[in-house]
Amino acid sequence: MTEQKPGALDLLRGLGKGLATTARTLATPAHTRQYPHVEPDLPERSHGVIALLEENCTSCMLCARECPDWCIYIDSHKETLEPTTEGGRARQHNVLDRFDIDFSLCMYCGICIEVCPFDALFWAPDFAYAEGDIRNLLHDKPKLGTWMERVPESALPESAAPESAVPEAGAAGSTAPQAGAAVPEADE
Ligand code: SF4
Ligand code: SF4
Repeated sequence: MTEQKPGALDLLRGLGKGLATTARTLATPAHTRQYPHVEPDLPERSHGVIALLEENCTSCMLCARECPDWCIYIDSHKETLEPTTEGGRARQHNVLDRFDIDFSLCMYCGICIEVCPFDALFWAPDFAYAEGDIRNLLHDKPKLGTWMERVPESALPESAAPESAVPEAGAAGSTAPQAGAAVPEADE
């Protein structure tokens, strides 16, 4: 009998502790987020997806070359601009045909955004673009352009004022996904 007494006390103490924990938990508000019914309140400069400001892109290929996952695909061609003054020289410039990012490979390191010398890539906070088919995570330039609407104004350079920053969705001619995009020479 004398051996059972401490055991019974321990049991009561344990029961008391358990009830106290239950009572404390009941009084604590739950941190569960009811996503997708309730959108999370994210900081505006969250790193959710990469947006492309197409008019700033010169097809220099720097982002594609520096991407550790090789998941940026760029195609472009050269066009000649006629001289604007008499006796002037014709100039060549790159025209962007294709700019795709494969988000099934992207590891969101942000290197492409950091190295772009022309402020053409930005973080947008959108994150809800999961797909049932992994192949649908390859996004082209019209789609990347639509995410410019979500880039916070504070992240945009002066040259990309909000009204000029958003290219018309579907306005740019994207090319069909193709493997082994050619690497054009950067234009001056
Ligand atoms: S965030 Fe990193 S992995 Fe993703 S496209 Fe840019 S450089 Fe590549
Ligand atoms: S580094 Fe910038 S300007 Fe050059 S190809 Fe990439 S997005 Fe375009």
